[in-house]
Amino acid sequence: MKQARLVETKKFIIEEADKPKANKGQAVVKILYCGICGSDLHVYIGHHPKVKAPVVLGHEAVGVVTQVSTGEERLKLGDRVAVVPLMGCGECEYCKLEQPNLCIDRKVIGFQTSGCLAEEVAIPVDNLIVLPDDCGDLQGALLEPAAVAVHSTGLLEKVRYSGKEVIITGAGTIGVLIGLLLKEVRGCNVTIVEINQDRINFAKGLGFKVINKITDFTGEEGARPVAFECTGNKAVFEMLRDIVPSPEVMVILGTFSREIETSIFQMCKYETFFIGSQMYTKKDLVEAAELMSTPLKEIFSKIVTDKIYKLEEVNEAYEEALNSKSGTKVIIKVS
Ligand SMILES: [Zn+2]
Ligand SMILES: [Zn+2]
Repeated sequence: MKQARLVETKKFIIEEADKPKANKGQAVVKILYCGICGSDLHVYIGHHPKVKAPVVLGHEAVGVVTQVSTGEERLKLGDRVAVVPLMGCGECEYCKLEQPNLCIDRKVIGFQTSGCLAEEVAIPVDNLIVLPDDCGDLQGALLEPAAVAVHSTGLLEKVRYSGKEVIITGAGTIGVLIGLLLKEVRGCNVTIVEINQDRINFAKGLGFKVINKITDFTGEEGARPVAFECTGNKAVFEMLRDIVPSPEVMVILGTFSREIETSIFQMCKYETFFIGSQMYTKKDLVEAAELMSTPLKEIFSKIVTDKIYKLEEVNEAYEEALNSKSGTKVIIKVS
């Protein structure tokens, strides 16, 4: 079978590999589609702190079960499945609470294990969910980023917040998915802050109010907004924190460099709840799959790029994802 291996920075090769076998507790999945994630791009350009080439990337994947280990009854041949890439240690307190996203020893398929840019992959059955019939194959490849949005918006349940006003910084895939969930499912008034013209057009096309400058934000008279930071940029974080009226809750998804210093005084001034959001859990992926089988899937589908690349075109696909300024997702048709 064929697989794409990143052999050095910005260079994939297509190679032949042995067909995988389903060991105990595993199923072999024939991968149909695999999305390119921002974290994949970090590895591609050699900036990822932990994951380096050579590696077979790919964790936003959907496929069909072609082999199941003996005695395994949770899946059958032909099941359409989406990959849940997160693997906790299974032992720690977080894993016991089904929060492997917080496990210190967590692994991610396609980073610490061989990923889904391969025609077939052996994956633990625990890391697969069966797609609802109404969720198309392509939408299945959106479930992982959609789960990030489901998870981060679900964190709002942990705090009190009164308003329906929402401000999101960054109209990338994640920012836009969060906006869609809050607008379409929770009926919030969503404003997205973005400066890139392609992304502005994309977000506007999805019906969002888009502004260029955070300071231009005007929510409902006097209402404190809920803010989602999706850029990982210190200046953006601080401007968002310091808007007037101050955010009631601020959920942080952007990947920030470790050395950033900021004013704790400003963080305390208006009793804003700051919530860090870390990946997702399997439950979030299941919830995302349910959303993808409602009429909302039409809107979510607009996030998939209209250009779908073949596995052999993996280098072009990554360049497109790297240079594309719009919030759409680049997808590789693996087999
Ligand atoms: Zn991802
Ligand atoms: Zn653990």
